[in-house]
Amino acid sequence: MVLCYHRIGGCDVLTKPTEEFRHDLEYLKQHYECITLFDLCERLRQNIPLKRRVAVVTFDDGYRDNYTEAVPVLQSLGVPATFFVSTGFMSTERVFPHDLELAERNGAAPASVAGRFPKLTWDDLRAMQEAGFEIGSHTVEHTSLGQSDEATVKRELQDSLATLKQELGERPRAFAFPFGKPRDISRQALQVVQQAGYYAALFAYGGMNTRGSTPFGIQRMDAGNGLLGSLAWRARVAGLDPDYLRLKAKGINIGA
Ligand SMILES: [Zn+2]
Repeated sequence: MVLCYHRIGGCDVLTKPTEEFRHDLEYLKQHYECITLFDLCERLRQNIPLKRRVAVVTFDDGYRDNYTEAVPVLQSLGVPATFFVSTGFMSTERVFPHDLELAERNGAAPASVAGRFPKLTWDDLRAMQEAGFEIGSHTVEHTSLGQSDEATVKRELQDSLATLKQELGERPRAFAFPFGKPRDISRQALQVVQQAGYYAALFAYGGMNTRGSTPFGIQRMDAGNGLLGSLAWRARVAGLDPDYLRLKAKGINIGA
């Protein structure tokens, strides 16, 4: 099971209160073996049986609270995690379009969003990597690659990887598709992910990964919605994710 979070320390659809995040991790530690994404992919690649139920914690986008709020909790409980960052937003004051949209939908002025969700700096990311956390790519511009032309797909995948290498050194890197729903993913983009040298590609929908899963089609479930009660969260973690069930009912399986 691969969980996806965005922000920690607050409460909205993309933000989970810090104490709830701690409770999530305590629950995971009780019921799952918490391993790194890299280890999970190695086990899948080598067809090593997953003896216990296994969980991987990931974060998308690159908000600064990942370092200030999430990392201390992860460290105190000894849970590894991978952080997928959109490189063009790190160490900048730029606002993600999805944060602007969310604010507008809630009737807030666009200007009120500026500075509200600070991004990680490259120094933060270096410290996180040194502490043993994995940093992966989430494109440069947080672009949906499902409909993008080939040049854009290549640029987003190659340039973000090059920036990570330049800022953080050469490491095995994984990639998480921005937005990550079936419409944001294409077979062509999945090919470029492999050609660019990533070791894994992650989606933002689906349920459990199984023994036959490939590292280039890791399904994840959203675990970071602060509005979700802890019972609903546990139901989702138990595999009762409504998005997953809906896609499964339609027979959509793009992870091949
Ligand atoms: Zn994202």
